[in-house]
Amino acid sequence: MSAYEHEVKALLSAAGVPVPRGVVVDDLDFDRAGELAEPLVLKAFGPGLVHKSDVGAVALGLSREDLAGAAAGMRARLEVAGFLVEEQAEAGVELIVGLVRDPGFGPVLLTGLGGVWTEALRDTALRLCPISEEDARRMLASLRGSSVLYGSRGGPPVDVDAVVKLLMAVGGPGGLWERLELGEFELNPVIAGPSGVIAVDARHLPSPGPEARAPRAATDFLPLFEPKAVAVVGASTTRPNFGNMFLGFYRAAGVPLVAVHPTAAEVAGVRAVPSLAEADVDYALVAVPAERCAEVLREARGVPFVQVMSGGFAETGRPDLEERLVEAARAAGTRLLGPNCMGVYSPRGRQTFVGGGLGPAGPVALISQSGGLAGEVIKVGERRGLAFSRVVTVGNSADVTPAELLRWLAQDEETRAVGLYLEDPRDGRELFEALRAAELPVVLLVGGRSGQGQEAAASHTGGMVSDRRVWEAVAEQTGAVLVAGQDDLIGVLAYFQAHGSRSRRRGAASGGVLVVGPSGGASVLAADAFDLAGVRLDPLPADALEALRGLGVVASGNPLEVPVGPLGRAGLVPEVVSALLRCRPYGDVVLHVNVQAFFTYGDAAEPLYAYARAVAQAQAALPGTRITLVTRNGECAPPGVEDEVRRIAAEAGIPVYRSMEAAAVAVAAGGRYGVA
Ligand code: ADP
Ligand code: MG
Repeated sequence: MSAYEHEVKALLSAAGVPVPRGVVVDDLDFDRAGELAEPLVLKAFGPGLVHKSDVGAVALGLSREDLAGAAAGMRARLEVAGFLVEEQAEAGVELIVGLVRDPGFGPVLLTGLGGVWTEALRDTALRLCPISEEDARRMLASLRGSSVLYGSRGGPPVDVDAVVKLLMAVGGPGGLWERLELGEFELNPVIAGPSGVIAVDARHLPSPGPEARAPRAATDFLPLFEPKAVAVVGASTTRPNFGNMFLGFYRAAGVPLVAVHPTAAEVAGVRAVPSLAEADVDYALVAVPAERCAEVLREARGVPFVQVMSGGFAETGRPDLEERLVEAARAAGTRLLGPNCMGVYSPRGRQTFVGGGLGPAGPVALISQSGGLAGEVIKVGERRGLAFSRVVTVGNSADVTPAELLRWLAQDEETRAVGLYLEDPRDGRELFEALRAAELPVVLLVGGRSGQGQEAAASHTGGMVSDRRVWEAVAEQTGAVLVAGQDDLIGVLAYFQAHGSRSRRRGAASGGVLVVGPSGGASVLAADAFDLAGVRLDPLPADALEALRGLGVVASGNPLEVPVGPLGRAGLVPEVVSALLRCRPYGDVVLHVNVQAFFTYGDAAEPLYAYARAVAQAQAALPGTRITLVTRNGECAPPGVEDEVRRIAAEAGIPVYRSMEAAAVAVAAGGRYGVA
């Protein structure tokens, strides 16, 4: 049931949001308006009156004497339940303040330039509730037209503190967003002037309340990642299927293994038992047709984790089968991963779902709603030097959610950074809270962000809250790094793997990024790449020039052009870097090299390796500085050369990128975590 404007305004006023003084009149007796100061505003209200000015249900600039006539005119044309008479606020900057309930993330606050230009300007900012005062100020500052707030073209600045106070009353801790009976609402306009704000319109939009969530006790996921033994349900003795493939992977990984088969005593050389009930394992992988999965789960009593690989559930229009699966898991007291996913990868626990053996154990975790993509990130990531602590695929996340896993991984001793690939996190609010609580770097890749946002509601606000913008707000508010593609997911995780510990080290170099390498054009483009990633490259300090002259370097910019090639001295760049760090302790030093230059005039792998070794030595000598290496045009090197450069760099804890753009994204991500 929606509330009328004056009812919403009463709630607003009680919450400390200024609204115009007004009275409600349901007959045509306007005597009570006598206490109000002119000029007056007359507004008709009634069940069908939504966009009031469109239908002539608002009259501005009235005197007391005008009221009866204006009201009679509205009555003659419109279905009117009553009238609101209120004082007319002075003109000012018109803002919109809206509160909507995102289907995944719950209450979202939106603000921006409002009034009649709202739709045309679409100049808004949004945040998940509750917002902080800092959020409120940043929302306002991020508007394209923010200068109208801070005083432009000779106009006085508006009372920004009062706007912030209003935003906090709506979206801050204990604000109106917590009042569930309010549903969604929109204040448009809120008029902001030099000495205060006032909400002159308030529209209520009924919305379904949030689904009640049953709190659940925290699960210890260690046995999932390091099971004492694993069971595979669904491998065949006659026709090898997915189950058999997994059986093969597990056997190669050397984890104690049992197959579940109704009749056979052995499947593909692995001992078999007739039911999960007889398997003494921590983890079972189920690869039987969707209709039969619930039945398998009912026998999983005593198995803490069951992963259902099979598809054919909610993702193909069978939510009923998925519900039965969850019920069966609850009944058996087991936690369900999936359905519609691949498995777990954890070198320490000899867990895998990809061929080609286990990679090295390391500090990077990954939670993925796509099994295929997780496999790619593992394989490509390991090739690029990533080492994983735990990888888990969660598919439809019918029971165990990404948020739950993130909470556990954030506390995990072995994990230093977490990547997330999400399509529909199931419980966005819980994920938001888990992201906010996580103290380690989290890199977020979200699929489907460009798709249609939620259907435009009856409000401006609803139409301006898209999935993409909500995810941006989530990243902004939690500090998570939102990346645009798989390459950057791997690249940013590689940066955190290499430099994560260095970043927390006491006495780490202070901020700033220095870029050094050959070629003027590449240096100019490097500046652009960092600019695009949101990183400013400050000019070199004043005393740098002299230091550079001493080394025979004539250029003096940042990016700094220093020749690097097959004929040059491998140690020159490290010397330049050391000299500059004495002038200013840069946090990040990005060194780039044109690999092509080493091979166009013959095979010059050795000078390239010598350069890489010199850079590695520089990193060892500068433990407080984060060195990053960019090997531009790497495809010009003969096979194996890039791998060797990577190996030399990795040993020294230096991440390597093939493009300046990728390096810039990674360095910018590091800055987000205050590592700079
Ligand atoms: P609508 O349903 O069309 O959005 P509003 O209540 O927002 O109706 O009124 C239309 C416009 O009239 C507002 O955008 C604002 O510019 C002006 N207005 C409405 N109420 C007041 C008021 N109390 N003081 C000053 N201006 C007002
Ligand atoms: Mg309005």
